[in-house]
Amino acid sequence: MLPRKSVLNIKPYKPGKPIEEVKRELRLKDVIKLASNENPFGPSPKVVSAIKKSLQNINRYPESSCFYLRQALAKKLKVKENQLVFGNGSDELIILALRAFVSEGDEVIVAYPTFLIYELAAQIQGARIKKVPARYFKYDLKAMKREVTGKTKIVFIANPDNPNGTYVTKVELEMFLNGLPEQAMVFIDEAYFDYVEERDYPNGLDYISKRVIVTRSFSKSYGLAGLRIGYGVSSPEIIKYMEAVREPFNVNSIAQAAAIAALKDKKFLLKTKRMTSAGRKFFYSEFKKMGLRYIPSVTNFVVFEVGKDASLVCKKLLKKGVIVRDMKAWGMDTFIRVTVGTEKENKRFIKELKRIIV
Ligand SMILES: *Cc1c(COP(=O)(O)O)cnc(C)c1O
Repeated sequence: MLPRKSVLNIKPYKPGKPIEEVKRELRLKDVIKLASNENPFGPSPKVVSAIKKSLQNINRYPESSCFYLRQALAKKLKVKENQLVFGNGSDELIILALRAFVSEGDEVIVAYPTFLIYELAAQIQGARIKKVPARYFKYDLKAMKREVTGKTKIVFIANPDNPNGTYVTKVELEMFLNGLPEQAMVFIDEAYFDYVEERDYPNGLDYISKRVIVTRSFSKSYGLAGLRIGYGVSSPEIIKYMEAVREPFNVNSIAQAAAIAALKDKKFLLKTKRMTSAGRKFFYSEFKKMGLRYIPSVTNFVVFEVGKDASLVCKKLLKKGVIVRDMKAWGMDTFIRVTVGTEKENKRFIKELKRIIV
């Protein structure tokens, strides 16, 4: 039996190692994970009580339209309810956009390095993928625009980017959108939107049009990674086609209830932002003391360079119960990505890193 041609050469996505797996395999008791950009402060207790309530109803199918969440988000974002689509994580919205708009042989443009799911999902769809190298660890939108042809269906822009943690500015985004061929859809992935404080960072919602879609996630700043829920905002036309190709019950009822509660807990979000910013600064100052170069980040993770095989350093950290991510999958063999954890976790990571490197 043979799969579809586009499926033959796919290399499966390698997620960060789960804590329990490391405990089991290395017989460790105390393991911390700073590898998947999760929120170490969450979930909010208010979300947990909303979830407990929602458990009473799990014998029923969830609302296919995410009715109450849709209402709440439309109000918060000041968009119409038919401008929203929900996904089983914002990952699913990437898949839905490709499924709805990209046929075999159509072109999809991505940066390199960037979030790996764009390429993976586009490959499954049978798209021709054009990869445009980043410059100085930032998206090179000018070069990406030069690659757009009459066959280009989607350009993916992670803003801010993962793994580099950098962002494209308002001016850069506007220059990119200006005069772009009509048929090319622009997918702006704002999974880390809430963390960004820079004044020249564009809010993607200001650019929603017939061809721009913006996605956001409850996994990072809201601390709901395990529940899988995210959303997309675009024109009613684009949303209509994405709704047409999704599974009817793609977002489960617990996730819907949790997301509604999460939106209400502004304190939790503020705390997350404040602690993340402090953690980032702590990393910077420690990296400087160790003489390690790093990429200034606007997100909840930081990429730094160890000057030698990073996977070896990661292995040594793992043996000490600290999970981080080497950047091999992106061809950046001497770099490591670390997620900001709690204060205690950050200190432990730095302590172990010092022992290995200095
Ligand atoms: C984490 C991440 C996402 C996806 O998150 P979901 O958990 O699927 O909502 C999307 N894009 C980028 C760039 C990410 O880093």
